[in-house]
Amino acid sequence: TGKKYMMMVRSRIPGGVMTSAQWLTFDRLSTEHGNNTLRVTTRQCIQFHGVLKPGLRSVINGIVQSLLSTRAACGDVSRNVTASPTPAVTKARAQVYADALRTAYALAPRTAAYDSIWIDNEQLNLEDPAHKGFVDPLYGDAYLPRKFKASFVIPPVNDMDVFTNDIGFIAIVEGDRLLGYNVAVGGGMGRSHGNAETYPRLADVIGFVESANIIPVAQAVLTIFRDYGDRMNRKHARFKYVVEEMGSDWVRDEVVRRTGIAIPPARPYEFTSTGDVYGWNRAVDGSLFLTLFVETGRIKDVDGHRMKTALREVAEQFPHFEFRLSANQNVILANIPDADRPRLDALLASHGVKTERQASLLHASAMACPALPTCGLALAESERMLPGLIDKIEAITAELGLADEEIIIRSTGCPNGCARPYTAELAFVGKAPGRYQIWLGANAAGSRLNRLYRDAVKEPDIENELRAVFTRWRDERLPGERLGDFVARVIWAEQAAAQAAAAAA
Ligand code: SF4
Repeated sequence: TGKKYMMMVRSRIPGGVMTSAQWLTFDRLSTEHGNNTLRVTTRQCIQFHGVLKPGLRSVINGIVQSLLSTRAACGDVSRNVTASPTPAVTKARAQVYADALRTAYALAPRTAAYDSIWIDNEQLNLEDPAHKGFVDPLYGDAYLPRKFKASFVIPPVNDMDVFTNDIGFIAIVEGDRLLGYNVAVGGGMGRSHGNAETYPRLADVIGFVESANIIPVAQAVLTIFRDYGDRMNRKHARFKYVVEEMGSDWVRDEVVRRTGIAIPPARPYEFTSTGDVYGWNRAVDGSLFLTLFVETGRIKDVDGHRMKTALREVAEQFPHFEFRLSANQNVILANIPDADRPRLDALLASHGVKTERQASLLHASAMACPALPTCGLALAESERMLPGLIDKIEAITAELGLADEEIIIRSTGCPNGCARPYTAELAFVGKAPGRYQIWLGANAAGSRLNRLYRDAVKEPDIENELRAVFTRWRDERLPGERLGDFVARVIWAEQAAAQAAAAAA
């Protein structure tokens, strides 16, 4: 008897790339030790929910035996390094993925305790010269002030939401040749309710770096954070506040000083979207890939839609496939020869998993964090709330003749922002049980933050608030203008005018 402790276990999967064999391991572990679901995160990882303490070592050890890890998937360290998963755009994607992988290793902490606890099951001998007085060469003796996030993205698709990272590498590709990366620093989502000194921030592009130099540059940025981040106030500890307060020019100069590497001005680039390309597509190497929509990232079996079983059977029957997790919480099956397509289609269909028209426009472009009941920080529902709310929003857009319009919708159960709500055109941020902030006005390329529109709206009142905004959007928008752009052009201008009038009165 006694207390039963339940854990969340988060894996670390650089670039979100898994083999079929690794998928099978994760599937088995979630059945044996978790709640029989797999949760795709917004950083291309998989989380296990509902792991009881006695199963903890089996899960972590099993992940490590599959040659993936949970090391530094949480904590005040460099988190999972993300990278564009889509094989459609350019052959340079392979090089970008390789760069993401080596950056992940170069930024990882060197702790031996992890192996001792989760792999070897042997107490570390701290008198051993190999361990005595060990100081991590990068992290020193106190790790970072808070977490540190790195990402690699390939324009024109900003599927990584690269500007929400502490450091972002924007690939500059000519033909199929990777020239290097524009480097962006100081992005981050988290904020706290009622604390104006905490805020979401988009990263600033500080210049161009050749591929050969990304490791020293990434390490320099991380150590600047280590040395200048706020270690007294955890709410003010993220790297974005260093960049905001010291300035991105100072950060660039400091990187140059620490590395001796020149950072010339950024190269031209353009982002046009942040979403995944659903369904069947052809990769540049001629193979096929299939992007499967996963509602709120939760892979599970329900009546008529047995996605977990379907993906397990895919991994069993097609060991040469790659499973790629997207930062939009979806799964991409890659490296598919044409000959496998009919059998794969039939297998998925037999479990109710569609490959075409998998979800409506609004569901397909939405994300939600887990929140209740598995996140201890949640103030309100998110994953269990959003699909139903989107159904209601779709009823409104249909009623107003806006059914063909895409809106990027995200929700989180608290202001930490795990599902990147502040780069959504429309976001719901939990304030209290059944109450949400409504945020509006980000753009589709992920390069503009939204702003708070209404605070602490009761769930039943959300529809009326949105109906009013959508009606104006329909009636006053420019041809083809998206919701986020309309809000930024019209509603923000009105708010600014009202504030100016109030200040003058
Ligand atoms: Fe939990 Fe908040 Fe993150 Fe949602 S946004 S998963 S509620 S910490």
